Amino acid sequence: MSSTSLTLTCIARRADTHDVTSWQFASLTGDLPAVLAGQCITLHTEIDGKLQCRAYTLSSSPQDACWQVTIKDVGLVSHHLHQSLQVGGEIRADGPFGDFHLTALPCERPLLLSAGSGITPMWAMLRDELARRPEA
Ligand SMILES: Cc1cc2nc3c(=O)[nH]c(=O)nc-3n(C[C@H](O)[C@H](O)[C@H](O)COP(=O)(O)OP(=O)(O)OC[C@H]3O[C@@H](n4cnc5c(N)ncnc54)[C@H](O)[C@@H]3O)c2cc1C
Repeated sequence: MSSTSLTLTCIARRADTHDVTSWQFASLTGDLPAVLAGQCITLHTEIDGKLQCRAYTLSSSPQDACWQVTIKDVGLVSHHLHQSLQVGGEIRADGPFGDFHLTALPCERPLLLSAGSGITPMWAMLRDELARRPEA
């Protein structure tokens, strides 16, 4: 599965809690690359003239038509995104990448344990698992 660089357009934004927001994205140029549940993308943004990049797991499942990230407002980039990234906005992304996915380790009854923002890959894996194996 190859990683690529693309420009994403924000098509929806939802406040999940007072300091956690989810953004949904479509690709400006067409189809989004295939993704495995649990993989991340790198978001690139410019703050005070300096390029900054951070990794964010896709909280959407591979069956979804758009990509979603869910970000806690904790520091420089996450705060900037909370303040500035609105519906219609564009952002550069690389990815998807990462080997943390159930596809690499198929099992009958997976146990998903997470804490804090670590819930985002679990959420993607859970939804992917239920889409592929509703009896799971
Ligand atoms: C593979 C991967 C997947 C990830 N997925 C997600 C995800 O799905 N959702 C998500 O929210 N995050 C995720 N992250 C974390 C994300 O990449 C960023 O690290 C996170 O958003 C913080 O970046 P920031 O620029 O907002 O904070 P930074 O400015 O980089 O600060 C990081 C932390 O240090 C603290 N800090 C900064 N400066 C100081 C200082 N001077 N003194 C004391 N403390 C300080 C901040 O409060 C913050 O807690 C993921 C990271 C990785 C590696």
